[in-house]
Amino acid sequence: MFSTHEAADGAVARVRLPGGRIGPDQLALLAQAAGAHGDGFLELTARGNLQLRGIGDVDAVAEKVIEAGLAPSSTHDKVRNIEVSPLTGRIGGIADVAPLAGALDFRLRTEEWSAELSGRFLFGVDDGRGDIRRHRPDVCALAREIDGPDIVADILVDDELLGSARGVEMIVDAVLDVAHTLVDSAPGTWRIGDLTPDERSAVEDRVRTRLLPVVGGSDDADSDTAASARPAHAPAVGEPIVGWFDQDDGRVLLGAVVELGRIPARLAEFIAAVGAPVIVTPDREILLCDLGEEVAETVVRVLAPMGLIFDATSPWARVSCCVGAPGCANATSPVREDLLVHIRDGEDIGDREHWVGCPRGCGSPAVPHDRVVADPDGGYRTQRR
Ligand code: SF4
Repeated sequence: MFSTHEAADGAVARVRLPGGRIGPDQLALLAQAAGAHGDGFLELTARGNLQLRGIGDVDAVAEKVIEAGLAPSSTHDKVRNIEVSPLTGRIGGIADVAPLAGALDFRLRTEEWSAELSGRFLFGVDDGRGDIRRHRPDVCALAREIDGPDIVADILVDDELLGSARGVEMIVDAVLDVAHTLVDSAPGTWRIGDLTPDERSAVEDRVRTRLLPVVGGSDDADSDTAASARPAHAPAVGEPIVGWFDQDDGRVLLGAVVELGRIPARLAEFIAAVGAPVIVTPDREILLCDLGEEVAETVVRVLAPMGLIFDATSPWARVSCCVGAPGCANATSPVREDLLVHIRDGEDIGDREHWVGCPRGCGSPAVPHDRVVADPDGGYRTQRR
């Protein structure tokens, strides 16, 4: 059964979307569930998932999520944490790594041992441009080149380059080997970074023996690889994927953000009605893909007034927040309301900010940012993370 957890404002359901990918019909079902049984919003998470909050009828939401095919494994759902380069196969990249991510997801949810993996463990599949690597997944397959029919990828464990793998099957084996080794050698450990130095060396030594030497012989080729993976029409890594982008096949990809990183259910229904593939990114962007020019123009004209923000200079492209009070019992400050006032007053937002109601820092970005933490006296202080 699809599971939820309790918060001060009701049950919370996290819907895992490997690679952030969701079909329009699936999005429509989630939007209906959020509107009828939740607080009326779909929240975007820092791992490219969607979350429903304030749920009154958990069974009704579970039914919709299962109907949408978004909880394919009752035993393994929490371990399907796979970030994938959002633009892969559409704009730039050494290779389209979506099939690789699909194969990884299938193996992950069909192998018995993986149910023991921590729900915090993060898999990364990077198409060579370096956008997912910079989130420092526990294990990352980083595409390096195409060799004949095969994709060749480097395997990085917590950003440590251990070796290479060739072909989808070997790459998926290598990535799963890291997770399996963690489960075997340090059961209950959440992430690679939680291991002692000795435990970590043991994991790396075991995994390294099953990999090929690094193609090219060193880590030095990384900058060249990343550069060749980014054509001129692709957004630079680290810049918001917000606005109008030409796909390699001539179609259009629209990227957008929303206030407070949550999509009103009604807006989500309109996004679904476009009938295009949707990708949710770990930077809380919403990508509408494979559009014709006329459709894209209509989407901007109709959905911008409804709250979809296509302007990359908007502060909402650089700021996120946790739920704060009253939704979270740990919070003393209404973080969302305070952030709305801050932005509507025209206050400055740094290059990347995340506002939170307490030092726990839920939903923090995996990249360097300013954490703006509520103080019990009602003020906020900023820490560089
Ligand atoms: S950061 Fe603190 S206040 Fe915000 S959701 Fe997490 S526990 Fe609650």
